[in-house]
Amino acid sequence: MELEPFVFSQRGVVAGTQENAGDRMEEVNRFTLRTLLPEEVAVFTLDLCNNAVDRHYSRFPEEELERINTLTPGRPLMERHDLSGSLPRGTFFRSRLHREGDRVSVRPEVYVLRSSGNRDFILNIEGGVYRETSIGFSFQRPECSVCGKDLRTCAHVPGRRYGNEVCHFVMRGVMEVLEGSVVPAGSQGTRFVAQQHGNARRARVPAVEALAEGRALFHRPIELWSAGWARE
Ligand SMILES: [Zn+2]
Repeated sequence: MELEPFVFSQRGVVAGTQENAGDRMEEVNRFTLRTLLPEEVAVFTLDLCNNAVDRHYSRFPEEELERINTLTPGRPLMERHDLSGSLPRGTFFRSRLHREGDRVSVRPEVYVLRSSGNRDFILNIEGGVYRETSIGFSFQRPECSVCGKDLRTCAHVPGRRYGNEVCHFVMRGVMEVLEGSVVPAGSQGTRFVAQQHGNARRARVPAVEALAEGRALFHRPIELWSAGWARE
């Protein structure tokens, strides 16, 4: 059985704002149709995702962070994951891996035009109201940290202890970085949902529920399956 990729979002933080974007304009202007001046943009640094096990028991291995790092430049910055009609607020223009001890994180920078329409958005970030970020990814396989199988096909439960190890899932096979969002502080964190054949069905359910759904789907006896039941 072919398992669908997951669309996933993970929470990060706004790590900083740049008072002077002057030395970055060459990189910014790789994405623009005319040459922008430093005073026309606000530049923010985001701490996007890292190699630690998060509170929803998921973890990126370092090679997947490297892939995310290369996929992020050029992707849009949105406001509150609003993909239904609103246009991007900014563009990620470069990204690097940031190391602090054992911790590796993806740190992209994004530019936002200082247009009248973006004024409140920029003020909310600079003022610390929008300080959390949430970035959407798709990946192929939630690998079980205990047995190495796809977690939808084994019986281990993320968050439960097995011997010395607390089970978590290792996100393998990152396919896309979809978008980044800035969200008000204190909003809901990590989500991942099954993606159906590339459609934009993005039902927002917690990771554990998505996993339960994925498991139920995988373990459903094929000879008893009918499309009518799937709609129930
Ligand atoms: Zn397992």
